[in-house]
Amino acid sequence: MQPPTLLDRPIAPTVPFDLEVINGAIAQHLAPLVSAIDQEGVYPGEFMHRLGALGGFGQTVTPAFGGQGQGFRAAVQVVEAVSQTCLCTGFITWCHIACVWYAQNSDNEALGQQLLPQIATGAVLAGTGLSNPMKHFADIEKIALVAERRPGGYVIDGLLPWVSNLGPGHYFAVVARMADSDDYLMAIVSDRLAGLTLKETAHFIALEGSQTFSCQLRDVFVPDEAILAAPCADYIDRIKPGFVLAQVGMGLGVTQACVDSMRRSNRRYGHVNGYLDDTVERLEADLAALRSQTYALADTLNARPPYRTPGFFRQVVQARADASELSLRASQAAMLHTGARGYLQGGADERRLREAYFVAIVTPALKHLKKLLQQLPAPA
Ligand SMILES: Cc1cc2nc3c(=O)[nH]c(=O)nc-3n(C[C@H](O)[C@H](O)[C@H](O)COP(=O)(O)OP(=O)(O)OC[C@H]3O[C@@H](n4cnc5c(N)ncnc54)[C@H](O)[C@@H]3O)c2cc1C
Repeated sequence: MQPPTLLDRPIAPTVPFDLEVINGAIAQHLAPLVSAIDQEGVYPGEFMHRLGALGGFGQTVTPAFGGQGQGFRAAVQVVEAVSQTCLCTGFITWCHIACVWYAQNSDNEALGQQLLPQIATGAVLAGTGLSNPMKHFADIEKIALVAERRPGGYVIDGLLPWVSNLGPGHYFAVVARMADSDDYLMAIVSDRLAGLTLKETAHFIALEGSQTFSCQLRDVFVPDEAILAAPCADYIDRIKPGFVLAQVGMGLGVTQACVDSMRRSNRRYGHVNGYLDDTVERLEADLAALRSQTYALADTLNARPPYRTPGFFRQVVQARADASELSLRASQAAMLHTGARGYLQGGADERRLREAYFVAIVTPALKHLKKLLQQLPAPA
């Protein structure tokens, strides 16, 4: 675990990005694993590497850095497509894409040249430990990590209780307060760094296959080559809309899967399901509206700097809140449509009910989003 080798990895070849090809890989290689991911906590690592090799992670990255350059809409669509089959894998896809987005937006050339091609192609997998700082910057909790300047880098200490998509050699992003200052830094770390340990400390009602670990950092030396930004206030303003917007893909995917299930139930029980408030038609209309709003916001993210206006971020937060509420409504409606057959253990509807709660509790959770909506100025 030598700091100078932190970014030193091989790069996998990729093929041009095509959503149809990705949907085919999901059907062939992910769908058969969904039950094992959910019930046995199997981590779909092989599928994640495959998704990366198919260009699933590189849409916001230029080809020069191993990306596909398709833009942010395609990034959302990949999270959506994967989440439609398995929200656990959809979430770790988001975790990975978020880390790619951070590296893409950093001015640190060492990260752009060494780390970015590795993660944009999925040769190395990555996560994001930003729940704590996102809540901290919204005055919800204290910052968990502290960094002290040393020659050639920073020493970071602290504990992050839950970070997903981790494993030996995976990268993840962290934010730490710089000692004796009101500024923060953002960096890429890995368990290859001395003093950084990953521990499985909890079991969840869903997302068990997400390889979510508690991350303890004890005097972890992070070299300057792995610093995304220091200080990072402007940089976080730049990455925040993408961080939040790509999560909407999780809600779009899980809602689409619920609507599909409801439609199947209606073939047999449509004569009585139609009395429920949330019908296929109502949910489908709300899903279509949220999808088109999300794609439009994603297209805006490709052009800089307009998305930095406060009104734009509010629209992103609103879309993310809508995705949480729609997922909860749709997963409940799917259970009610399917009836007692959906109440059997191990069924897809009961899995999606548990998964949908995750869309609403992962940072920024629905309560956090509602707090932001109270504070952010409305669009002009
Ligand atoms: C399956 C799963 C995967 C997650 N993956 C990630 C990830 O990849 N990256 C990431 O940054 N976050 C991750 N999180 C954290 C998540 O985003 C939320 O921050 C977390 O669920 C708490 O949010 P909350 O809004 O409920 O917090 P709040 O309701 O505000 O409060 C929860 C409080 O509990 C504390 N707390 C959290 N975990 C523990 C713990 N294990 N032991 C003791 N206290 C604790 C927190 O400090 C916080 O103050 C994950 C959570 C889950 C359940």
